Amino acid sequence: MTQSAFEPPRLGEPYLLTPGPLTTSYTVKEAMLRDWGSRDFDFRQMTTDIRTKLLAMAGDVASDYDCVPVQGSGTFSVEAMCGSLVPRDARTLVLVNGAYGKRIAKILACLGRDHVVIDKGDCLPPRGPEIAAALRADPAISHVIVVHCETSSGILNPMQEIADAVHGAGRKLLIDSMSAFGALPLDVRDIPFAAMVSSANKCIEGVPGFGFVIARKEELEAARGVSHSLSLDLHDQWVSMNKTRQWRFTPPTHVLAAFAEALRLHEEEGGVAGRGARYSRNRDVLVEGMRALGFETLLRDEWLAPIILTFFNPAHPKFDFEAFYEGMSDRGFVIYPGKLTVADSFRIGCIGRLDEHVMNAAVQAAGEVLAELGVDDAAPPTASLDEKQKLVA
Ligand SMILES: *Cc1c(COP(=O)(O)O)cnc(C)c1O
Repeated sequence: MTQSAFEPPRLGEPYLLTPGPLTTSYTVKEAMLRDWGSRDFDFRQMTTDIRTKLLAMAGDVASDYDCVPVQGSGTFSVEAMCGSLVPRDARTLVLVNGAYGKRIAKILACLGRDHVVIDKGDCLPPRGPEIAAALRADPAISHVIVVHCETSSGILNPMQEIADAVHGAGRKLLIDSMSAFGALPLDVRDIPFAAMVSSANKCIEGVPGFGFVIARKEELEAARGVSHSLSLDLHDQWVSMNKTRQWRFTPPTHVLAAFAEALRLHEEEGGVAGRGARYSRNRDVLVEGMRALGFETLLRDEWLAPIILTFFNPAHPKFDFEAFYEGMSDRGFVIYPGKLTVADSFRIGCIGRLDEHVMNAAVQAAGEVLAELGVDDAAPPTASLDEKQKLVA
């Protein structure tokens, strides 16, 4: 179907053009064909190597940080970070511009942690000056949490600007870099965050089953006794893992083995720069091809992360998202519904074991499905475009 440099999905599996779980390489899947004892020397060494490589990916040459893996999906690690590294009497500012920011506020509410929110709606980035003003106005705020790439719209938040505002005010920064880490730079030498979190099944292209927190050692030290939870206690997980090189509770052994292989492929591709370059090319080919069909992106070009793209639904009366989704699926591409309040939309991911040939084939499939539906122009409603014009951040 394509001249992709990568092996195609097997046995009629579709390409997952979604924000994760995503299409992984055959060797990543193959790495799961062996059973590991969680106390085996080799398995313990695997865990140690993974932690070391993730710290290197974050630019921790000074060994100021440590990496603590946590069982479960990414949200478990976000909750572990919030419950362990945000003191019980702290007030946190949450920067919200989509569903994942809202989820962080909800986690803090569940944990009984005092917090305030700057909510920018669906598609505007939080900016340095408004953050600085909020921190000036409320000296009780000690922590700020932000999502790196807000996967609900695909917006790339301006991390350096945000970090400068937070650190300029002497506050601590926590980052949900779930859908960005590994493909977009997040280096502690540029952005000396208190902690960040990501997971196995996004830009590092592993399979789902664990997340990880990269935190300053002094933050992990200070987290002793802070967590409300046993299984999500980062301090306990950290101390125990450093002492025994084992996980406190059953680790997802096969997932770790797959992740070790995913890290090998990541390195082979040229690390964060190489991975980011491939995803950027995927985005560019996708956006150009979809625009040629008449589709338009929700976001202005400067905020389009090379992770996932939101497109407005066409205004054409014959366009029906369910039928479009089915048609794409029949052609081997799983796309993602939209998550917006402002306009009807859908999303197409460009992360995973995919290259520009796959993106071209997806665009061609989209053209075929439109023709099948009798939609000769995929332009969005003018009202949607008017909304977009207003989005001058
Ligand atoms: C995927 C994702 C998460 C975690 O979602 P899970 O379903 O728990 O893995 C959190 N934040 C962002 C920004 C994400 O993209």
